[in-house]
Amino acid sequence: MSVPPKRRLKHWGWGYEDSESSREETLQAAAAIRSHLGFGEGEVESPVALADIGLPEARLAPPAGLAPICRTDPYERASHALGKSYCDVVRGFRGRFDHPPDVVAHPRDEGEIAAVLEWCESAGADAIPFGGGTSVVGGVEPRGERPAVTIDLRALDLVLEVDRVSRSARIQAGATGPGLEEQLRPHGLTLRHFPQSFEYSTLGGWLATRAGGHFATGPTHIDDLVESVRAICPRGAWESRRLPASGAGPSPDRLLIGSEGILGVITEAWVRVQARPGFRASVGVGFHSFEAGAEAARTLGQSGLQPSNCRLLDPGEAAVTGAGADGRALLLIGFESSDHPLDAWLARALECCADHGGSPTGEPALRTSTDTGSASGKPEGAWRNAFLRAPYLRDTMVAAGILSETFETATTWDRLPGLVRDVREAAVAALAEVCEAGVVTCRLTHVYPDGAAPYFTVLAPARRGAECEQWQAVKEAASEAIASAGGTITHHHAVGRDHRSAYDRQRPELFAAALRAAKRELDPAGILNPGVLIDP
Ligand SMILES: Cc1cc2nc3c(=O)[nH]c(=O)nc-3n(C[C@H](O)[C@H](O)[C@H](O)COP(=O)(O)OP(=O)(O)OC[C@H]3O[C@@H](n4cnc5c(N)ncnc54)[C@H](O)[C@@H]3O)c2cc1C
Repeated sequence: MSVPPKRRLKHWGWGYEDSESSREETLQAAAAIRSHLGFGEGEVESPVALADIGLPEARLAPPAGLAPICRTDPYERASHALGKSYCDVVRGFRGRFDHPPDVVAHPRDEGEIAAVLEWCESAGADAIPFGGGTSVVGGVEPRGERPAVTIDLRALDLVLEVDRVSRSARIQAGATGPGLEEQLRPHGLTLRHFPQSFEYSTLGGWLATRAGGHFATGPTHIDDLVESVRAICPRGAWESRRLPASGAGPSPDRLLIGSEGILGVITEAWVRVQARPGFRASVGVGFHSFEAGAEAARTLGQSGLQPSNCRLLDPGEAAVTGAGADGRALLLIGFESSDHPLDAWLARALECCADHGGSPTGEPALRTSTDTGSASGKPEGAWRNAFLRAPYLRDTMVAAGILSETFETATTWDRLPGLVRDVREAAVAALAEVCEAGVVTCRLTHVYPDGAAPYFTVLAPARRGAECEQWQAVKEAASEAIASAGGTITHHHAVGRDHRSAYDRQRPELFAAALRAAKRELDPAGILNPGVLIDP
């Protein structure tokens, strides 16, 4: 059993307490962001300190047998009260924790998870599985109606077994991205699943939300990497068989993947791992328009080349991230392999881009594990740095009065141009109405043979105290446009509570009835994460 990490995460926002920016650093960063964007005014605010937060009284106390693994102090309750959407960060920053869990449990094994679920059932409490708490859709926030026990899985953080022959590993659900990669490294292996929230999110959270990693093509969803899953449900253990593939009826692990904590607590999974890549190649390619870049991305997606990175930035996104400032759309292309040099793949990709009017913005970066050449100083390196910094910068933007949020979807290629146009127009119009200014940028984060995933970033002047209402108005307009244009309400951010109404419209009604029936069977008292995916 591993010891919980000594470093504490902030009770709001992104990152660890000990790496929080000083007031001076925040002021400097806020000034730089404001001058770059041209908006964001007034005083730079400071977050409400933990000691100054008034939490509602806890309505529940753990039974003596569970007391050693349960905590009820303000840090534990506040830091498990919200996810990490923009609105969550704003509320945490202002000390607004309206519905914190009454108790936070830290089980160390499946027996303790079963005991916590049993206690929740008898006490009439909601039970909320919690991985890294990076949900951006209200997936970990208690409803407030009934007492709530949050079940933090991060004490289950081990790689338990590695099967080198089959290239798979059995990993506990609470392992974070860095934690599991560190344990796979001595075996020369990697899971190669890199969501932007990688640093803090967990394998269990990825499975529960069907997370998308940041490899742009090929097996990029966690779904693709799963051999089997094990969960503890209120009515017992559920474990699918470990197989490379199976035609034996509907798959038992597919029902758990994406179940968002409503059917059971995922405790571990066998996942497909692979050799660490030793060869890498990357290049940035400029296009006169986003549409031309999208055509090139489609060609690459359908070519069988399977680039690991194939990310199209519109000119605004390229400028904001410092990846390119020449007014062109920028396609970032990358390949990696543990087996072979990639020059031929890159050369063919450049030919495909040239067919659509694309030209490289500089020399390609070709690297091997022994050659330390890097993509830094190149557009792909600049974009990667901005991508990794973004969640930290968002905390500063909240202090500086800047609304900063993202939303994403996916659609087939035939509908893509119309969807991007309509959604952008809807978001810009809503911004003009509720924020009086702002920018909407777009990138394609994932490219498939039959479609792509457009990802939108919204930056605008925020009205202090009304940020969540402002964002809600923009989000509603964008969601309506996405639904009308034939996109999904979420490509990889999950459903939670925030996407419920759009998800309800998207899924077949008979499927909803079947899901409700499955929940009744596994969780008859309806304690697990009520309100997520289906009605309580
Ligand atoms: C800055 C930022 C960047 C992000 N980037 C990405 C991205 O690139 N790709 C992506 O897919 N998502 C992304 N997300 C969203 C989020 O990180 C993912 O949904 C992630 O999979 C959540 O993992 P977690 O461990 O933090 O889960 P949590 O947030 O703790 O939980 C998410 C949901 O899963 C349930 N859950 C968690 N653990 C378990 C378990 N063991 N058993 C059963 N249910 C469980 C919870 O009840 C909740 O409903 C991002 C979020 C942020 C804030």
